[in-house]
Amino acid sequence: MEKEQVTEPTVLYSKIRGLSRWEVRWLQCALENAHFSKDPSTKCGAVIVDPCGKRRVSEGYNGFPKTIADTKERIGDRDFKYSAVIHAEMNAILAAKCDLHDHMLFVSGPPCDRCSAHIVQTGISRVAWLSPTQDYWDRWEESCLFGRHLMDEADIMMMEVLP
Ligand SMILES: [Zn+2]
Repeated sequence: MEKEQVTEPTVLYSKIRGLSRWEVRWLQCALENAHFSKDPSTKCGAVIVDPCGKRRVSEGYNGFPKTIADTKERIGDRDFKYSAVIHAEMNAILAAKCDLHDHMLFVSGPPCDRCSAHIVQTGISRVAWLSPTQDYWDRWEESCLFGRHLMDEADIMMMEVLP
């Protein structure tokens, strides 16, 4: 049987200087949120902005649920961490108090497969992220590329920003 033709989803690449000052602001906010994460290996931050692009409606960073103790031992335990952690995008979606249809999501790095599925389900129509470091990409490439296909099929406009 012939192999199915796989085409890479369209991702618009942009130099940061090509962005509006609002877009730069939201990416900076996403990065600031990332610094709040206690995870030493992966720090991610996210911001959700309303359709006009000038009002933040939610934000988040990766971490354990709020009543789950984030001790050093647990953060250092990969199995515990992977099962318990909520990613930045998911925390931002969960914290939002409104319908996210047509909203924009700004993330400090490319979303994984699970976050992408949830992003699609919210109706968010545009996602921008900072291009990942090599270390991040080595660990998350497969998951992020799958997520990209999901968002592409849902007609989400994706933009990877090269700092
Ligand atoms: Zn994720």
